[in-house]
Amino acid sequence: MRVPFVDLKSQYQEIKLEIDVAIQQVIDQSAFVRGSHVKSFEKNYKTLFGVEHCISCGNGTDALYISLKALGIGPGDEVITTALSWIASSEVITQCGAKVVFADIEADYYTIDPLDIERKITKNTKAIIPVHLHGQAANMQAIMSIAERHNLYVIEDCAQAHLGKYRGEILGTFGIAGTFSFYPSKNLGAFGDAGAIISNNEEFAIKARMFANHGAIEKPDHLLEGINSRMDGIQAAVLSVKLNYLKKWNQQRKIVANSYTKFLSRIPDILPPKIRPDSQHAFHLYVVQTNERDQLRSYLSDEGIDSSIHYPIALPFLGAYDYLKHCPSDFPVAFGVTQNILSLPMYPELTTNQLERILDTILQSTVRKK
Ligand SMILES: *Cc1c(COP(=O)(O)O)cnc(C)c1O
Repeated sequence: MRVPFVDLKSQYQEIKLEIDVAIQQVIDQSAFVRGSHVKSFEKNYKTLFGVEHCISCGNGTDALYISLKALGIGPGDEVITTALSWIASSEVITQCGAKVVFADIEADYYTIDPLDIERKITKNTKAIIPVHLHGQAANMQAIMSIAERHNLYVIEDCAQAHLGKYRGEILGTFGIAGTFSFYPSKNLGAFGDAGAIISNNEEFAIKARMFANHGAIEKPDHLLEGINSRMDGIQAAVLSVKLNYLKKWNQQRKIVANSYTKFLSRIPDILPPKIRPDSQHAFHLYVVQTNERDQLRSYLSDEGIDSSIHYPIALPFLGAYDYLKHCPSDFPVAFGVTQNILSLPMYPELTTNQLERILDTILQSTVRKK
């Protein structure tokens, strides 16, 4: 049996009864788009996060896009985001008509480097999108202080960091908005695409809700043009069931991470992830560094263990950004780590046996080399 990179089936088995009942309810009520299940998910989510507003939407990319649009960001504006993330974090900026400006990452934590943010600010900068990458909190104290000094909005991309914390506060509650993806493999995953925005700012929340729903809170009062980005009833019902397990699952992720780190700390050639002091890592991903990444990855694969790379190419070096004409020395840290990073299997249901097999295999691979 292979050890998969994620295992959505075993999570479903654990809660099958509850999920099946919830989905059947949606079907019985024909509450397929928005409706009562979506309303109650929004309420459950904002209660869990202790915020005033939760705006559900179609996916995590839309959550970012809707937030930028609700802030009025458009042509002539610049938005700074991290050089290392999924392309969603940057493509939404271009989709608004604004200019993407990348900042390098902090070597220890993989998140956007506040010093490089400061260097990239111009008179046109309107917002910063830090990403809590892998579930690791970005340096929110420094970022919020920069934002205040320069009067910039902060939108936290929390797609990988559900319920992660920084200095005791939940990620997504520092900036004007926190955006979430419920893509199936995320810490909180739907049975398809779904996303949400949280905020404590009422004016922003109303605009975001309108923009996501054809420019109307309720039809036919379309006060502006928007988009169609709605959460399905089935996704909301699934998410409401799973929300009750999120803390437990994150705790299990942490246990897996601790076991990995304890073991890997004794292996000289493999660098386990560091956790930012005074923060709680949500461990969406467990990312190590090694100079022999490709060899390790193929050895693991030959031994039946899946792994992945997040991400093999830093954003500024993707074909989509050729027009920015960046070179590796513009983002030395992001460029450097992409050569060495490897994401090991990480999910709450990872068994002790599976974990031992992964660790044994890593050990064999380092012994074999010598
Ligand atoms: C998954 C992800 C997104 C996008 O979410 P979708 O729901 O797939 O649109 C955005 N940013 C980051 C960092 C992600 O990991």
